[in-house]
Amino acid sequence: MIGPFTYTALPVRVVFGAGSLAALPAEVAALGLTRVLVLCSPEQEEAGTRVAAALGDRAAGVLAEARVHVPVEVAHRARARAVELGADGCVAVGGGSAVGLGKAIALEHGLPVVAVPTTYAGSEMTPIWGLTEAGAKRTGRDPRVLPRSVVYDPELTLTLPAQLSATSGINAVAHAVEGLYAPDTNPVVSLMAEEGVRALAAALPAVVADGGDLDARGEAQYGAWLCGAVLGATTTGLHHKLCHTLGGTLDLPHAPTHTVVLPHALAYNAPAVPGAVAALSRALGGTPDPARELWELAGRLGAPRSLRELGVTEDDVDRVAGLAVAAPYPNPRPVTRAGVTALLRAAWAGEPPA
Ligand code: NAD
Repeated sequence: MIGPFTYTALPVRVVFGAGSLAALPAEVAALGLTRVLVLCSPEQEEAGTRVAAALGDRAAGVLAEARVHVPVEVAHRARARAVELGADGCVAVGGGSAVGLGKAIALEHGLPVVAVPTTYAGSEMTPIWGLTEAGAKRTGRDPRVLPRSVVYDPELTLTLPAQLSATSGINAVAHAVEGLYAPDTNPVVSLMAEEGVRALAAALPAVVADGGDLDARGEAQYGAWLCGAVLGATTTGLHHKLCHTLGGTLDLPHAPTHTVVLPHALAYNAPAVPGAVAALSRALGGTPDPARELWELAGRLGAPRSLRELGVTEDDVDRVAGLAVAAPYPNPRPVTRAGVTALLRAAWAGEPPA
């Protein structure tokens, strides 16, 4: 039986395809923006400067200070810079960190964000913001932070290193996995999730083998778009909660953490979500065990498969398990302290998901 469900499609305009960066000035102009602040991380300053040059007079400046998890100090500086320059919008060039900084400005000043993603994180398709203060990350949803326009140009992802391509791609897969069993999932979201996983699983081995393979880069970015849209439309469960807790408490790298945890979180929930397992099985070439297949995929991509190699200690596991069960949240299978501890222990040791 289909439904009942409620679905609000989010109003993001998408311009997709190799070379589509050329459309950015027109996208900015169509929004009536005349003085945008270009945001990027310090490592991508050159890309930010190139984008600002392409925007000509419509670029008011470049701020190359985006950092993972958006520290509040960085958000304060960026907001002050936007005001000082009289910016009427932002163009975020980069991964989730650059887009997150644009969202932090939008949250306070309501400036529209145009996103030019260069990883597969998917933040550009969501109304979710995050800010980190004194080691604690706060997140929320606000329609003001949803980018108005997203320019996906796979040429900009050619420089994404193999390791980050692999982990960022699996981060995107995680959005789709949790979207398939979210309490607010629906048939449209499920289609996007299944197709997003299929596209990423097909493209990532080719991307890792040859980062310059533009066709594979395009397919991976298409998958990332779909998975990001799924994240934007649904409520996340155990997997995202664990990654949020691990990342915030232990300052772990975002995409590798998702890569390690996902097979274990999916294996935990699988008995409760046969429909999601069937969709993932189709997306992953017919495997009866999608959790195991995601673990194998991470291995084939040379991505990390243990929390231990990310610097987590065995003692951390118990602490994080305690924090992860402290506040209730929706999940298809009841979240118990013993269950989470066993899951995290296997993820810590790098064992296959059970
Ligand atoms: P990131 O944006 O921090 O980028 C990682 C590194 O890769 C940076 O040094 C960046 O400069 C570099 N990089 C990015 N693209 C590159 C390219 N094409 N070539 C070379 N180098 C490149 O990492 P991320 O994984 O994209 O984003 C992680 C952050 O995004 C986290 O803070 C996470 O919480 C957030 N996030 C938010 C949402 C949301 O919906 N709000 C969704 C996903 C992730």
